Amino acid sequence: MRLQKFLARAGVASRRHSEELIAAGRVAVNGAVVTEMGAKVDPDTDVVAVDGAPVALPEEGATFMLHKPAGYVTTMSDPQGRPTAAALMASELAAYPALFPVGRLDSDTTGLLLFTTDGELGYGLLHPRRHVEKTYLALVEGRLNEYDLRRLREGIVLDDGPTLPAGARVLAGEEARRARCLIGSGEGASGRLQRHGGKRSRGALEASGSYVEVRLCEGRKRQVRRMLEAVGHPVIALHREAFGPLEVGDLPRGDARLLTEAEVAALK
Ligand code: URA
Repeated sequence: MRLQKFLARAGVASRRHSEELIAAGRVAVNGAVVTEMGAKVDPDTDVVAVDGAPVALPEEGATFMLHKPAGYVTTMSDPQGRPTAAALMASELAAYPALFPVGRLDSDTTGLLLFTTDGELGYGLLHPRRHVEKTYLALVEGRLNEYDLRRLREGIVLDDGPTLPAGARVLAGEEARRARCLIGSGEGASGRLQRHGGKRSRGALEASGSYVEVRLCEGRKRQVRRMLEAVGHPVIALHREAFGPLEVGDLPRGDARLLTEAEVAALK
């Protein structure tokens, strides 16, 4: 196996960043620094180290989906002591210590967050060229009109550059009721709505707001919030319903489940 692939599989870094680590002379195989890019390693017999620390392939790969509740930061540990998504994965992490989150959800965002031991899968899903679609449901201030939707669909210039075109539609009827259940209930939701709405009641916020579905093939920081804010409709509450072909479905908030082999294959 090529050294950069080994490092990515082991969860050290993306393949590209692994190549940078190799070029920088930070990777050793059996005690000797290797800077040659095509170098091969045998995972069964060779000892690979990065900055002197041995790295190994996970014994057995595992990928989980977590239904992240609001109020949890997407980190393995938080110096400020805030609740972490990793703490919700404590038993999974005990079984698979190499698990790491695939990308991030804001603390206030609920919904589907993947954890995997497979670095190649995890970093691959985040690679901008892969264009993996993520589906979000948002409760926003005000009502989006056709012009707002067109701007989102064509792409918007944010302060870190233009976005790719996004899928965007206003939800009505049964779909809006479903979105309300998914994003507007559960622990943390009333606090979030209250923080956002000040003295306005939840009913008043919902009456003057609307539910929208946004589909993005990028994953920039707070991208959905910034895009909706840019068209004049700040986000009140946000939920990620799907990551590529996977939907969080009826997985209870705060729970995680192991993906099946077929689900993992569908992500590749
Ligand atoms: N976009 C956001 O604004 N927040 C998230 O958590 C995810 C996508």
